[in-house]
Amino acid sequence: MIPVAEARARILADMTSVAPDETLPVARALGRVLAKEVTAPFDVPLADNSAVDGYAVRAVDLVSSGRARLRIVADLPAGAVYGYVIGSREALRIMTGAPMPPGADTVVPQELAESAGEWVELRAVEAGANVRARGEDVLAGAVVLHAGAVLRPQDLGLVASLGHGDVRVHRRPRVALLSTGDEVVEPGKPRRPGQIYDANRYSLGGMIQAAGADPLDLGIVPDIRERLRERLLEAAGAANVVLTSGGVSVGDYDHVKSVLGEIGSIDFWQVAMQPGRPFAVGRIASTPFFGLPGNPVASMLCFHLFVRPALWKLGGRTRLDPEYVTATAAEPMRKKAGRREFKRGVLRFSDRGYEVSTTGPQGSGILSSMVVANCLIILEEGRGDVGVGERVLVEPF
Ligand code: AMP
Ligand code: MG
Repeated sequence: MIPVAEARARILADMTSVAPDETLPVARALGRVLAKEVTAPFDVPLADNSAVDGYAVRAVDLVSSGRARLRIVADLPAGAVYGYVIGSREALRIMTGAPMPPGADTVVPQELAESAGEWVELRAVEAGANVRARGEDVLAGAVVLHAGAVLRPQDLGLVASLGHGDVRVHRRPRVALLSTGDEVVEPGKPRRPGQIYDANRYSLGGMIQAAGADPLDLGIVPDIRERLRERLLEAAGAANVVLTSGGVSVGDYDHVKSVLGEIGSIDFWQVAMQPGRPFAVGRIASTPFFGLPGNPVASMLCFHLFVRPALWKLGGRTRLDPEYVTATAAEPMRKKAGRREFKRGVLRFSDRGYEVSTTGPQGSGILSSMVVANCLIILEEGRGDVGVGERVLVEPF
């Protein structure tokens, strides 16, 4: 048995080749992984500018009590630049974001001004008030986004504001996905007694996409050695990663192991976890292979723990660690020491902070528990039974 953390580390250490780059328009790059850092070609803001609608003046012209009466030299529309120097006892009407005219150092907001014709009476503000300094957001030459970052909406906005129309991103790793089992049937087709509809190709297909990769659907393979062999070879030639579910137990029809032994290399890992069946890790030629358990919850959990970070790394992403919070257990939980247990949980936020309970029965075939859940409850190896009120680790979905 190997601990979860060690299995994960061994898998990640083996994922070396990173997907090549492509250029995309910024608007199409949401969720993609940046392949080349983005730098600022200029200061943002480009010039000192007004933070409010009001009047740009020289602070020395304001009086500390009462009002100063200044002459309005111009009314500057948005997008225009005032080329003259603001002189003594002069004010320029200015809009938010407009560049400060030379000579002025302070903006008096509209609310503190009363204008009549070409004159305005202004209350005092501190010298330098309401001016946004050149470069206060980003300095020219600064790296604003590093390679390996996953692009979020605000990242796209910043990239665009720097004048870049395109970004270099990693291609999405392509993942060949197939289900194994004579009993597994395509949804929408008739089903004979004893057969089940395929769940895993749909849940895992979704997880592949959510991980920023591209699923290549290779359908369902029956438990026939030759067919499995053909399909796995086809998969390895067509994708960057091959993923199967089922057929990795020790049943009579579990051919994954022996086929992989012929066309590639395979390791069966007993990971000290629950739910946890053996799962298979290997390569077909140079293509990484993951054989996930058939039980729907176990296959999703194995994907989450081991395949997702592998796809992230292949896709060029640099942050590979899961994000946890802690919560108070709202119910007692059974736990065997010596292995890491994952329970499907419901996490709530109340005035007492985060509280979590399980979704109920935790069998590794109960896919509806994943649907009811909004988190995984993670009970560490060293831990035994959990009592109400104890703190537990939680990974929200
Ligand atoms: P296996 O490891 O192939 O023996 O599968 C373990 C359990 O998972 C069996 O009950 C299978 O019927 C079930 N199973 C296997 N593949 C799928 C699938 N694609 N969708 C839903 N259940 C599956
Ligand atoms: Mg099977």
